[in-house]
Amino acid sequence: MPSSRILGFLVVFPWLLAAQSFTPGQSYFGANNYVEYIAGNMPIILSAPHGGLLSPASIPDRDCSGCSTVNDFNTQELARALANSMYERTGCHPHLVINRLHRRKLDANRDLPEAADGNPTAGQAWTDFHNFLGGAKNTVTWTFGKGFYVDLHGHAHTIQRLELGYLLNSDELRLPDDSLNNNTYTGYSSIQNLAENNAQNLSHADLLHGEQSLGELLHDRGYAATPSFTDPAPDPGEDYFSGGYNTARYGSYNGGAIDGVQIECNRTGIRDSLTQVERFADTLAVALIDYIERHYFNGLGTVLCNSTSAPDTGTNPWQMQLSPNPYCRSFQISQNDPGAVWQAEIFDFYGNLLFVRSLEAGISEQITFPQRQNVFVVLRRNGEIATARTVLHYCR
Ligand SMILES: [Zn+2]
Repeated sequence: MPSSRILGFLVVFPWLLAAQSFTPGQSYFGANNYVEYIAGNMPIILSAPHGGLLSPASIPDRDCSGCSTVNDFNTQELARALANSMYERTGCHPHLVINRLHRRKLDANRDLPEAADGNPTAGQAWTDFHNFLGGAKNTVTWTFGKGFYVDLHGHAHTIQRLELGYLLNSDELRLPDDSLNNNTYTGYSSIQNLAENNAQNLSHADLLHGEQSLGELLHDRGYAATPSFTDPAPDPGEDYFSGGYNTARYGSYNGGAIDGVQIECNRTGIRDSLTQVERFADTLAVALIDYIERHYFNGLGTVLCNSTSAPDTGTNPWQMQLSPNPYCRSFQISQNDPGAVWQAEIFDFYGNLLFVRSLEAGISEQITFPQRQNVFVVLRRNGEIATARTVLHYCR
């Protein structure tokens, strides 16, 4: 684990520097403005591959055999409303990538040949879509150590319920929990990383359809969902989408510390009107925040949105300094604000409080760890959270 972390750090570090030019909440566009990325600063990544409204005549309609060209109605609107609700509720921006092209022109949830059907302009949009998502995944991994990805869709199945896809089909979801918890089925899962390491030591089966599963957190708030504690798996013969290309590529199916789910939204009560879209988006925002606070960060998930891995050089209003970052054996924190009581709380990457130090004005506190690891430092000023920093561990 530490060696792969360090290797990853060496590879990603130059990119991290470049990433700092993205401002959270701002839109950035790929070629021809066909793909939009709204930069984030929290450990949640969203995408809307099938909600594009643009149909330029310069790109021929896809006509590959067996390819679907039907859009997921109102899912771009849902993705934008979800990002807005998260910001209103937490002050943090999720990362959001939107394919603005209609599915007739580009399917951003397929591999390239089927996605663009041989058209180079659509192919460039596909590349932009995945470059933005890959960049968001790197940013979240190196700022927070882990995170959660949601690919938003809409289904036309008869049963009006959310279908959460973790890459397990309905036969597999009906297996006994003991089977779902063995390596074969965790190995197929888009939440493989979370199943191995989560704040409450829940099992894979618990995370799929236990009382604290995402499906149940949505059910509790008035939206039917499967899998969930209430509806653990689709019955034989019932239609169900188990996740697709993006879920496999950006969840933890292939490893890494970002888990993922495909959310297929039913139409009635969710996508019929923009009023319903807004209401559901806000509920989904609350459920997702609840989910990452329960399973990833022990209540710290949103506090840490101001966290950054950049060295703090004391340019903030309270002259707080923290260096070096990255650290090898120890780092120092100081502040120059004699009128206030300062406290530094040091957390590990699972949100466990390691220890607390009080900071006197003008006196540097040296922080040394017996175990070398990446940590979060939450700084309180007169009891209020003033800032949060990610301090990365790296020794040459
Ligand atoms: Zn779709």
